[in-house]
Amino acid sequence: SATLYVVATPIGNVTDITLRALHVLSLVNAVACEDTRNTATLMGRFGLQKPLIAAHQHNEREAAETLIARLREGERIALVSDAGTPAVSDPGARIVDAVRAAGFRVLPLPGASAAVTALSASGLVNDQFYFVGFLPAKAKQRENVLSSLRAVTATMVFYEAPHRILDCAHALATVFEPRRQVVFARELTKMFEEIHRCPLAEAEAWIKADGHREKGEFVILLEGALPEDGENDAEADRVLQVLLAELP
Ligand code: SAM
Repeated sequence: SATLYVVATPIGNVTDITLRALHVLSLVNAVACEDTRNTATLMGRFGLQKPLIAAHQHNEREAAETLIARLREGERIALVSDAGTPAVSDPGARIVDAVRAAGFRVLPLPGASAAVTALSASGLVNDQFYFVGFLPAKAKQRENVLSSLRAVTATMVFYEAPHRILDCAHALATVFEPRRQVVFARELTKMFEEIHRCPLAEAEAWIKADGHREKGEFVILLEGALPEDGENDAEADRVLQVLLAELP
């Protein structure tokens, strides 16, 4: 019966697609996707061909209407993005929201997500993490966002475009304590996968050490604030109070 399936797809290695995703993609009437060419290629790898409906960040509202009209006809529709889990730093949330509001069933199919994949192999304490996603592109705004995260104790998760990776590492090193651990998870599940962990102080040098590193896709994980960081603030405050009391 009429259902929207939210289907995660691989983030690099095509064999990471799930059996259930293939099953659902083979039974739906149409697939709503971020980029029809990408999705046609992915489905072609598995011998699947379906009507494709463009549903990207610039037409989500209209796409939602199209999908709802089809669901009213009793169709089953899959929603995918270019890579990983739809609606996570990807289009899809508005569509899901509209489809739910229209009263239709929404079924998620779990699968690859770059954030969770990076966390799983980082060795950082991951009982708590804070998903930041993409930072603003403008330096000032980026620094404001980072400054607001100084006291976060959970591991922070950032997505970054390759051409901004060096700027991002620089901004992190400016705002956070240099001894915090940072993990660069690059090209996950792909041929040139690299997962590198180092103190923030060494991050820029690591990126510059190999020209290839400013290419490819990155998840960046940053260790949360350590208990001592707060104590340092408290100690600084205490000293400040003592000094202020001495002022005439
Ligand atoms: N919806 C996707 C997910 O579930 O992870 C994220 C899509 S977002 C537009 C793309 C960003 O995800 C990239 O800029 C990068 O930060 C991260 N990413 C996607 N694939 C990756 C990979 N194979 N290795 C490292 N990072 C990746």
